[in-house]
Amino acid sequence: MDRQHHSILREIPSVNDCIDWLVAAGSLDDIPLQRLKFCVRRYLATLRESILADGEAGTLLADRQRLLGEMTDFVRQYHRPRMRRVINGTGVIVHTNLGRSLLPAAAMDMLESVGRSYANLELDLETGKRGSRYHHVEGLLCELTGAEAALVVNNNAAAVLLALETLASAREVIVSRGQLVEIGGSFRIPDIMRRSGARLVEVGTTNRTHLRDYQQALTGDTGLLLRVHCSNYRIIGFTSEVSNAALVRLGKDHGIPVMEDLGSGCLIDLSRFGLTKEPTVQDAVASGMDVVTFSGDKLLGGPQAGILVGRKHYIDRIKSNPLNRALRIDKLTLAALESVLRLYLDESQALRQIPTLALIALPAEVLAERARDLCERCRALLVDHAVFTVQPTWSQVGGGAMPEQNLASWAVAVAPVAMKISLLENRLRQAAIPVIGRVESDRLLFDLRTIAADEIEALLASLQTTLVIDKESASEDRG
Ligand SMILES: *Cc1c(COP(=O)(O)O)cnc(C)c1O
Repeated sequence: MDRQHHSILREIPSVNDCIDWLVAAGSLDDIPLQRLKFCVRRYLATLRESILADGEAGTLLADRQRLLGEMTDFVRQYHRPRMRRVINGTGVIVHTNLGRSLLPAAAMDMLESVGRSYANLELDLETGKRGSRYHHVEGLLCELTGAEAALVVNNNAAAVLLALETLASAREVIVSRGQLVEIGGSFRIPDIMRRSGARLVEVGTTNRTHLRDYQQALTGDTGLLLRVHCSNYRIIGFTSEVSNAALVRLGKDHGIPVMEDLGSGCLIDLSRFGLTKEPTVQDAVASGMDVVTFSGDKLLGGPQAGILVGRKHYIDRIKSNPLNRALRIDKLTLAALESVLRLYLDESQALRQIPTLALIALPAEVLAERARDLCERCRALLVDHAVFTVQPTWSQVGGGAMPEQNLASWAVAVAPVAMKISLLENRLRQAAIPVIGRVESDRLLFDLRTIAADEIEALLASLQTTLVIDKESASEDRG
């Protein structure tokens, strides 16, 4: 570092001076003073570093207006809420990084009502006695799935852990080798098994497992037969799996419970939308499974939750496990879940009002029309800055469900005239309302399936602020 850089550093104003200037300017009046000080300190530290790295940054110190302008922008950026709405142009409907399922309007109304007020979470309004929080959804879940009993916890990973710990701690659990799944976020069947205290007994081979494999593995220590749905992968070719019916019969013959982790947990057969039939929760219950576990926010289209349904005898044992208290569901989630489940009482209503299902059901023709409209509006606004085209594409269900299946869809593709695609992607992600797209052969695609009609204006605004930048900062960014 040379002497010149050092002398520039001495010109960096003090935190207090900066605060005085900013307060006098008045444009950050809404920011608490503590926060303002914190941000200014951060800004000055970064400025110091960039001066040390490159003397050029020091020119800012000679222009107080510009310095205060940059500082104000920094404070504004920093003070934005960390969690914000995002426009999902990826076409992945249950996008784990973008919060999985969207909630229906009915659920949002319930959240509002139950969040603002006290609620009968654990009060039986008829008797005035203490009630159970699970009571609010247990009846509905039984009615919808045909199960004898039900329980809800924080998420499906918790549901599986809790069931294993209750039914098979210090005992053996038999699972087919082909079903030892890893879900994103490091949920792996062998690991969760270990944490539950159960001992994993793998049977069969990766592609083929037979009933005799399970039979031969049975010992006096066997606590559970487990089937795991291959949510996010497929084994194809020379394959063989034991049917639920055969597994259930084996369990019955030996007095051992049988459980299925369905993962996504769909209540409606979606094959009518061109997707291959996934086993529904009703199918799993009807097959005689003693316990079935699934997520609330994958194909069910509700809030994050883990749902267990099955035989009363086993569900009651799981309910009274002390670990359940640590994994329990909160009142807001419960309120949202109840309203989503109520929509399922009328299937056509569920398909219309539950966003996850409605988005799957959107026909490609409708999306083509929306893509053409969006493309025209983009051209009208930004013709000098990018080339916009309409193109067919494929949407995905996501959330680790139906990995090999695509839904025909339409997208608007953006090819900027003077900006790298990675820069456009980067800037859109950091816009006031961030837009997440998909890069494909040097163009940024927005799949219309996951973009709501009332998000179009915001998308155009974000595109405009992102694509239209002055020449100077464009060349800086590109450098
Ligand atoms: C997604 C999934 C889980 C985990 O569910 P979360 O709700 O994400 O906790 C467990 N098992 C299977 C088979 C899954 O697909």
